[in-house]
Amino acid sequence: MRSVRQCTRTACGRAAVATLTYVYSDSTAVLGPLAQLAEPHSYDLCAEHAERLTAPRGWEVVRLMPEFAPAAPTRDDLLALADAVREAGRPREQAPVAEPLAAVADAPRRGHLRVLPGGGVPEVP
Ligand SMILES: [Zn+2]
Repeated sequence: MRSVRQCTRTACGRAAVATLTYVYSDSTAVLGPLAQLAEPHSYDLCAEHAERLTAPRGWEVVRLMPEFAPAAPTRDDLLALADAVREAGRPREQAPVAEPLAAVADAPRRGHLRVLPGGGVPEVP
């Protein structure tokens, strides 16, 4: 089985991101996440064709997904996204200045790091 399926529309070679399933008894076309298995009466669509999908006359389209993410972003895209998220999530104030080593060594609050008996996650028998 191929791991990446392509859009089933003619002359479209983009990667499929959604699966369109025709439910003939209900005259309904269901557009949902890409199915794990290709089934009869189902058609894989790329993001563009999924967005542009229109139902045949007398049919209703049920969209299970509000929008479709582009398939398989490149590694560069992911890195750029990660950078953008990190940039957006960065706190306004400056990072705390590291304490001098001596202060850390005899600081009483090191006790916070101990695991207290009886607390925390219960043990699985
Ligand atoms: Zn397509």
